[in-house]
Amino acid sequence: MPSIKISRPIEAKIREIVYACSVETGVTLFGRKDGDTFEVVEVCGPGKNATHQELHYSGNSDHASDFYTELLKTQPDLKHIGEFHVHPCGMSRLSGGDRRTVKEVLRTYEEFIAGVMLRNKGGVDFYPVFFARGQEGVDMRVIRDVHDLHIAVVGLGSGGSALADMLVRYGVGKLTLVDPDTFEPENIKRHILDTGYIPPISKLFPRLKFNKARVVMWRLHDINPNVSVKFIGDKFSSLSERPDLIACCADSDACCQLVNQYALEHHIPVVFGGVHGAAEMAEIITLIPGETPCYACYERDGSEPEPTQEKYTNPGYDSTRTPSQPGLWADILMAASIQFRAILDALQDKINPLILARLRFPYSAEVIRQKKGCAVCSDNMEGLSI
Ligand SMILES: [Zn+2]
Ligand SMILES: [Zn+2]
Repeated sequence: MPSIKISRPIEAKIREIVYACSVETGVTLFGRKDGDTFEVVEVCGPGKNATHQELHYSGNSDHASDFYTELLKTQPDLKHIGEFHVHPCGMSRLSGGDRRTVKEVLRTYEEFIAGVMLRNKGGVDFYPVFFARGQEGVDMRVIRDVHDLHIAVVGLGSGGSALADMLVRYGVGKLTLVDPDTFEPENIKRHILDTGYIPPISKLFPRLKFNKARVVMWRLHDINPNVSVKFIGDKFSSLSERPDLIACCADSDACCQLVNQYALEHHIPVVFGGVHGAAEMAEIITLIPGETPCYACYERDGSEPEPTQEKYTNPGYDSTRTPSQPGLWADILMAASIQFRAILDALQDKINPLILARLRFPYSAEVIRQKKGCAVCSDNMEGLSI
């Protein structure tokens, strides 16, 4: 499958162009090709004189060609690789007219990318199609560079802190950490933080506490001083900057429900990760708004999954305060590792809505049933099965 790499700064530029007007508009893409992958290096908008009605694929509008001429002075290897344009009303497919225009373009170009953009609550979704002369168009995969990724981690307990550690080692460039709790020395037996992260001043003033998200931020900077980390030492309510994905590692069901609603509203993918009972079972839910069931879609009353539903039935449930269980740290790491893999998969459009993995012998993974007509997201979920 041919791919197109869109970095965060490029995406931000495209967003700015797309939201500068409310009608049909478009961007011209300049970039390079490496094997099957195109990289967008620069974009330009339609220019002041554009009519915003019809998009010209030929790239011969004065604005785009002047822009290209300037670009070539500093980056002579750049090519005009394609065009994206906005469709109204959620039509993500290229129209017949679009395809005819591409055909015209392919008289002079060997290959060309034509893509539809849909405005989506402050973000832009891309539907690029690759065309080579004499061949049918092929859908492209959109790749974002790992260093450009912004992931918000909600809940920095055992699972969340381990996951944040994995994400930084993987190369994620930007994290927002959310947790209202303070870091306590008792946390250490099942946390990536060790005694080195208890500030010496705490010995003099034992009542002086530090927010857990803040201390995890110190730890992440120790792993990679260049990673950009922000922390919110409060309960999850909203995020000032839109992340590419939310990793929800909160223990409380109420917090997970809040993250779920926020993500559906703002169209942000979420990978929820947690363990059941004495960490015998990892539950990893991937929510892609509009594509998968949401967090609230799954049945949680009754006996499934074993062994306990306390997380969902007891509002005061806090797994960090449950009695010590031998080997729990290892179980938490297994669950965090599966969640980490699910995040990488979600970023590459390989979606597995629900993973239920037993972390004890006999090991297994299963799928639990979905509620019919979920009150939170059922509008978008007609005909969906898992
Ligand atoms: Zn179109
Ligand atoms: Zn739902």
